[in-house]
Amino acid sequence: MALAWAGLILGGFGPEHKEPTLPSDSPRHLPEPEGGLKCLIPEGAVCRGELLGSGCFGVVHRGLWTLPSGKSVPVAVKSLRVGPEGPMGTELGDFLREVSVMMNLEHPHVLRLHGLVLGQPLQMVMELAPLGSLHARLTAPAPTPPLLVALLCLFLRQLAGAMAYLGARGLVHRDLATRNLLLASPRTIKVADFGLVRPLGGARGRYVMGGPRPIPYAWCAPESLRHGAFSSASDVWMFGVTLWEMFSGGEEPWAGVPPYLILQRLEERARLPRPPLCSRALYSLALRCWAPHPADRPSFSHLEGLLQEAGPSEGCCVRDVTEPGALRMETGDPITVIEGSPDSTIWKGQNGRTFKVGSFPASAVMLADAGGLPATRPVHRGTPARGDQHPGSIDGDRKKANLWDAPPARGQRRNMPLERMKGISRSLESVLSLGPRPTGGGSSPPEIRQARAVPQGPPGLPPRPPLSSSSPQPSQPSRERLPWPKRKPPHNHPMGTPGARKAAALSGGLLPDPELQRKIMEVELSVHGVTHQECQTALGATGGDVVSAIRNLKVDQLFHLSSRSRADCRRILEHYQWDLSAASRYVLARP
Ligand code: ATP
Repeated sequence: MALAWAGLILGGFGPEHKEPTLPSDSPRHLPEPEGGLKCLIPEGAVCRGELLGSGCFGVVHRGLWTLPSGKSVPVAVKSLRVGPEGPMGTELGDFLREVSVMMNLEHPHVLRLHGLVLGQPLQMVMELAPLGSLHARLTAPAPTPPLLVALLCLFLRQLAGAMAYLGARGLVHRDLATRNLLLASPRTIKVADFGLVRPLGGARGRYVMGGPRPIPYAWCAPESLRHGAFSSASDVWMFGVTLWEMFSGGEEPWAGVPPYLILQRLEERARLPRPPLCSRALYSLALRCWAPHPADRPSFSHLEGLLQEAGPSEGCCVRDVTEPGALRMETGDPITVIEGSPDSTIWKGQNGRTFKVGSFPASAVMLADAGGLPATRPVHRGTPARGDQHPGSIDGDRKKANLWDAPPARGQRRNMPLERMKGISRSLESVLSLGPRPTGGGSSPPEIRQARAVPQGPPGLPPRPPLSSSSPQPSQPSRERLPWPKRKPPHNHPMGTPGARKAAALSGGLLPDPELQRKIMEVELSVHGVTHQECQTALGATGGDVVSAIRNLKVDQLFHLSSRSRADCRRILEHYQWDLSAASRYVLARP
């Protein structure tokens, strides 16, 4: 996972990304922060508990956040992973990018960021999704019951709504999968994991990757695999794969197919087969999401309506069904009709009481919207899906679904522990280099080759330092930032100069201890996320001047949170009357 991306740190959104202009010298021109990181949270206000999981650049714990009012809120705390040398530049960049994206999002189906703890390590305090990931739920072993088809359809509509929201904000998620959907309640999913989110750039509304980077290849659209190109349409493709996962009980898409072959298969028009629980109408929607040309795929807002239409009908059992081979039901059982047509007397559905799926006589069910009449009208509203006429696997398996075939029993379903998901994300380059080159394009996308060069910063700014220590290109940071720990003063900082050290020693010697302690405490209370030792050093560097020490430390904090120079950080802080929280919101909103 530590593949280097000789790319930009914090806000290096890609080649097309235009760096926001720095605030002019006149602070009056500084725009107010939009939306907002709700707050900077003091380290002591968050108490971490059980480990919930870990990702590429962070570990997530359950936590309790104590608000100033004394009220405690259950939260999830994602801490930036710190190695012996501190976090990698790429990880720090991704972490801060995730913060800067999430802080401006507000949607019922998007995971909410509460705030940031400027401690060591950096911590994101997020809304807790107490029921974990949808993937974990889909693959939970018996006796956990499977998720009802009707609920899966509800989740799809929630997801389409959240994705339409992200798209409208010019963002592309790039990592849509059931592992990144969290269950906030039994009937509510939230889109999470914004580490790969990028703004759509340029007139073409797409983002082209700026360097070798792990990507979840089995979820990716062909243009993402071939050219590193991502757009709302490639998110729609991923939505189709996520739908497939949901109806396959969390199976891994293209399991066992080598990464380089996936692209080849996709370009030969092979598609994931229709899962037994998925209706033909829904599958035909998935196939539309997998249209070879991005422009032919529906938009998320269009999908919201299409899902409504393709969703199953709900009904109620009006007589006991005990015929051999038929889905057993009792009068009053809620029934989801997965497949049915007016010409057919046998329908397929799910019994909401028993969770069982199977076929039953249409006359046994009264549809909820049929005005009290038995179900005699069509409920299958989609055109026959291509993959249904040829319900083939990637191998062209033509096995036809039998109406009386129930899906595999829960216990027989292939249960895929998360372990198996390891390695699903590979760099695009590794995907394309793992086997024979796919035809028609050759080698790695040009963007990836170009990205080996150290990116240049915007005009007027020094180039950003590629902080990743695992970068394939040795490079010199172009500004004085030390990758980590941030506590070390940079060479040209007053705290780090020989004169300053001397001053520190001098002032340390001159100050009486209780007075020094009082000042340290004053500084500590005024600057979010600093340690006692740092306050002491800062005071030493300013000859005991509390105000200057506080300001220097705030500049330090902002400097380490952003990609800006110290001078800019100072200017921003001055504009915000040295309010570190407001200044942090400003820089995070404009990475
Ligand atoms: P990566 O970030 O590498 O793509 P990831 O999605 O597994 O991978 P994280 O977002 O760091 O990584 O999450 C790690 C684990 O913690 C996930 O398995 C997820 O289920 C769990 N998790 C993350 N955020 C929350 C949350 N807000 N509430 C509950 N569980 C969470």
